Amino acid sequence: MQLYQSQELKIYNSLTGKKEIFKSINEGYVGMYVCGPTVYSYVHLGNVRTFMSFDVIFRYLKHLGYKVRYVRNITDAGHLENDADEGEDRIAKKARLEQIEPMEVVQRYTVDFHTILQKFNFLPPSIEPTATGHIIEQIEIIKDIVDKGLAYEINGSVYFDVLKFNETNNYGILSGRNIEDLIHNTRVLSGQSEKKNPQDFALWKKAEPQHIMRWPSPWGDGFPGWHLECTAMSTKYLGEQFDIHGGGMDLKFPHHECEIAQAEACNGHSPVNYWMHANMLTLNGKKMAKSTGNNILPGEIFSGNNAILSKAFAPSVVRFFILQAHYRSIFDFSNDALLASEKGFNKLMDALHCLDGLNISDSSSFDINAWKDNCYAAMNDDFNTPILISHLFEAVKHINQIKDNKATINSDDLEVLKSTMHAFIFDVLGLVDTVTTDNNDSNTLSNVIELLINLRAEARANKDFATSDKIRDELLAMGVQLKDGKEGTTFSLS
Ligand code: AMP
Ligand code: ZN
Repeated sequence: MQLYQSQELKIYNSLTGKKEIFKSINEGYVGMYVCGPTVYSYVHLGNVRTFMSFDVIFRYLKHLGYKVRYVRNITDAGHLENDADEGEDRIAKKARLEQIEPMEVVQRYTVDFHTILQKFNFLPPSIEPTATGHIIEQIEIIKDIVDKGLAYEINGSVYFDVLKFNETNNYGILSGRNIEDLIHNTRVLSGQSEKKNPQDFALWKKAEPQHIMRWPSPWGDGFPGWHLECTAMSTKYLGEQFDIHGGGMDLKFPHHECEIAQAEACNGHSPVNYWMHANMLTLNGKKMAKSTGNNILPGEIFSGNNAILSKAFAPSVVRFFILQAHYRSIFDFSNDALLASEKGFNKLMDALHCLDGLNISDSSSFDINAWKDNCYAAMNDDFNTPILISHLFEAVKHINQIKDNKATINSDDLEVLKSTMHAFIFDVLGLVDTVTTDNNDSNTLSNVIELLINLRAEARANKDFATSDKIRDELLAMGVQLKDGKEGTTFSLS
């Protein structure tokens, strides 16, 4: 018997706006698709938050005994600057600005994405397909939609006919928009659009001669529209209908709405049973975003190298910090909140370290099974990690009381306590037992590096370039990169 058979998991379904009992299509198996990053710049902590929410969901489903096929794609083509199918391809633009190949852009930021996620102890997805690896599948879907009369070609581009689709289906079902409002509210940039109607979206875009990322198609050389890749890859690896589709709240419209329309146009039915959306991480009350520069990079937090931080923080502390908010709540980043999370994380780890040395009594002064049920109830209630964490702290209180001989535990209960704490802290929340203290290791490291930076500055002032270069090169060999700027020298850890 697997755990999922005795637990009633409820998931908030964005499609219905309700928490629903989760029932997978095939008993014991779950298919989950999450929209991955567009790899044209470094991932910021907001992106990490969304992927971490789904990492915990993946972990909990596995913990319950499901066999999960988790597909998270890499968007390496087709995502234009603007959601209305206008502007340059984000990756092509970066390549042009940096005068490198688009695939060099893709490689650099894919490696960064993987490195950061690994530092945060993410589990790798089961499949990580790329948009450029599935051009043929995308062309096949477009042909199908054109054949069904729900898309039209103009000038080498193909657009999805939203009004036609809406005659028989419901465009806007996920985001709660109705077609009349969409018609009234869609901005038309005069003379710029070749679409029949402004709310139509691109399935295929003709590549202008200077566009490097291009593929042959029945409509000429071009590239796929952004929404299409997810339909192609989710259908290919999870089938026409699968259990869970996730992403950040900002993808609900138009991206996920368009995915539903494309899949319904092809297959005649809704592709996904449970749509899940993670809420935004904010900084100074505003959404963290690549485009506005209002963001913080994980590397800056690990090194403490950002003016809003008082010190460096370990990845597990940041992970714990993020999971202290429910994935559907907006969450604001701050140094003070991180400091508080670090205290909490250390307290939790200290209690774990005490578990093995606790005195065993004949009876227990607290109901361990009721506590364990509460932990499951929290996660079963739409993956409520903050409530789970509050139950873990309930256990911390008892552990500390037992240690101080103010409470008791018997040996069977101690085993249940240990295994449950380990399961939720390490397997489900994905935390790692890094020992951090207030005057922690990374702070000491920062101080030592600052000392070396000062010695190097002195050496340079004395024109002793051999010593200054030696300090820079040897630090680099150890993974510490110095950067000289107007405001002095800063460092980053690789
Ligand atoms: P992108 O690479 O821009 O396509 O974004 C990758 C993922 O990060 C998407 O699921 C976005 O919804 C999500 N995301 C972007 N900004 C934030 C934010 N500030 N907080 C949480 N998730 C975000
Ligand atoms: Zn997607």
